[in-house]
Amino acid sequence: MKIDPNRLGFDIDGVVADTMHLFLDIARKDFNIRDLRYEDITCYMLEECLNLEEAVIESIVVKLLDGSRDEGLRPIPGAPEVLERLGADHGPVRFVTARPDDEAIREWMHRIMPLPPSHMDIVATGSFEAKASVLREKGVSHFVEDRLETCFLLQDEGFTPILFKQPWNREPHPFVEVKDWNELAALIDFPDRHS
Ligand SMILES: [Mg+2]
Repeated sequence: MKIDPNRLGFDIDGVVADTMHLFLDIARKDFNIRDLRYEDITCYMLEECLNLEEAVIESIVVKLLDGSRDEGLRPIPGAPEVLERLGADHGPVRFVTARPDDEAIREWMHRIMPLPPSHMDIVATGSFEAKASVLREKGVSHFVEDRLETCFLLQDEGFTPILFKQPWNREPHPFVEVKDWNELAALIDFPDRHS
């Protein structure tokens, strides 16, 4: 499989942004929770896999999403380099997040990504279910996503999900899976600049 870069789109949290490491940082700094590891996050619904009070999880997630801690949000290794290459060769790189609003993550993307803002098309849908219609509108056929349930939703809608491997998506699935941005880059049909 070689993916046409013009038809490729990306989720942000867990694919481009290392959101769960920020979750662990906030848990440690604000709640003194020190025995939690990245590998412990084995499901997307955090209250189902983490031995934390629901109110604590909620409070951390609010801090995660409101942008107030985004100075501690790092890109997933390799993402900036691959996205820079995509943005240089093609139209805007398309990002579709299920976050309720795009303000904080847009500001972060503009600050962190080595791409001019005009080369990034960022949409926040507010729901996982709404991703498909946005992708269709934008002509995206292949979508890189870390939430397994969303991959199934997108497959049902005729898209080709690429699952970005994370501890919270280790269930059996039929999708192409990549473990990092190197593997993802290898699937992209970058134009050969020397030909
Ligand atoms: Mg995600």
